[in-house]
Amino acid sequence: MDFEEYKQKLPVNYSEEDLKIIKKAFEIASEIHKSEKRITGEPYIIHPIEVSLKAAELKMDAGAISAALLHDTEETKNGTLKKIRRELGEEIAFLVKSVTKASEVRYHGAERSAESARKMFMAMAQDIRVIIVKLLDRLHNLETLSVHPSEKQKRIANETLELYAAVADRLGMGDLKVKLEDAAFKYAFPKEYLKITKEVSEKISERERFLSRKITPRLKQVLAEEKISVKEISHRAKHYYSLWKKLERFNNDWQMIYDLSAVRIIVDSLEKCYLVLGIIHKLWKPIPGKIKDYIALPKQNGYQSLHTTVFCEGGKVTEFQIRTQEMHDEAEQGIAAHWAYKISQKPDHSKEKPRKKFNWIKQLREWHDKFYNGENGEDFLEALKIDFFKDRVFILTPKGDIIDLPDGATPVDFAYKIHTDLGNSMVSVKINGRIVPFSYRLASGDMVEIITQKNKKASEKMLGFAKTTQAKEHIREAIRKKE
Ligand code: MN
Repeated sequence: MDFEEYKQKLPVNYSEEDLKIIKKAFEIASEIHKSEKRITGEPYIIHPIEVSLKAAELKMDAGAISAALLHDTEETKNGTLKKIRRELGEEIAFLVKSVTKASEVRYHGAERSAESARKMFMAMAQDIRVIIVKLLDRLHNLETLSVHPSEKQKRIANETLELYAAVADRLGMGDLKVKLEDAAFKYAFPKEYLKITKEVSEKISERERFLSRKITPRLKQVLAEEKISVKEISHRAKHYYSLWKKLERFNNDWQMIYDLSAVRIIVDSLEKCYLVLGIIHKLWKPIPGKIKDYIALPKQNGYQSLHTTVFCEGGKVTEFQIRTQEMHDEAEQGIAAHWAYKISQKPDHSKEKPRKKFNWIKQLREWHDKFYNGENGEDFLEALKIDFFKDRVFILTPKGDIIDLPDGATPVDFAYKIHTDLGNSMVSVKINGRIVPFSYRLASGDMVEIITQKNKKASEKMLGFAKTTQAKEHIREAIRKKE
């Protein structure tokens, strides 16, 4: 493929200046990979090209596109980095180096994945484009995995499910997450994959008919009567891997799968989300406890939407998801939406506010520098699993500020999250006005009031109540100081 052909495939109108950069990256990559072939027999360059086109689909900037084109060059030939630095500058050289670094791990077993997790997070904390290219690289590798021996397929697929998909989820990149999961599912659990796809194809058509003939028309009619315009009503089948996980949780009881195919409604304003929710509840009875307001309380990864599950005609249970276009784009692309390329502009830094949601990236780096001593990758991974991947709970301060903590956190974690002194001097705690023990497991919506005493010092006992690395570290430090 020459550059003119490649340019035609780019889904974004990049500026002349950007195209110059991309062209140079394209030429360097083509030159380096020119005599290489993939196992499939295709020219190697197809792989970086496909990865870069996926990045372009996410509207990534010229730097990211170039890094995607060049991401395997340094592995092939040492010394290309110098050339890249000379021709394309420090920033792109840094991206290429970081992507390479994130993949250079060659350990085995658990040690290997702990170590690659660590490298990946470190690279990610420096520039989010590194991790996006890395995830897209993995996706393309999965899409072309069938030519590899089954042992390798399994290893790559498992690593994807455990690590890469979890990272995509954490970055709010819902679309990429399900693509990674479904592509890996096939190789990680081939039998289960076959079974689920077969069962779904049998069940889904009946379900889809019900939604498109009964539910959608009824909803449209009522919305029209109420003069509420919506941008889009659609329904899409649940993805295989998440469906399988859910079925496992419910002992294979299909009756429990309300969202085999959920109805998604996209509206043009936030107020309308709630209006439409009201209409749905007027039409059909909601299931208590199934109404989720992720607009007022977004998920930790930034996901926003209203969810409700209702009893429709004939007692059939249906899930609805209501959101604005902007929320929808973010739900699909997550952090990449903030890098979205605006024609003839640099990445969109005007959206500074949503970026605040990703403060944890900075946090992660600080905490890595502090706790990782280069010897024990396992500890780091363990800490990551607890602090980073686990679900979050949202806790209120007496002033009404929202503090988010990992699920399973205690009032001690809460106190240390607010301030070290508050943690060190806490003597008791009230949740929603009632005194509770330090071991209390916080739940979303709890209002926590920490009662302190002057001159109180942190003690060994407190360590037993702390779940987060941050709180434990502060307590240990306070004990050390005391001694
Ligand atoms: Mn690659």
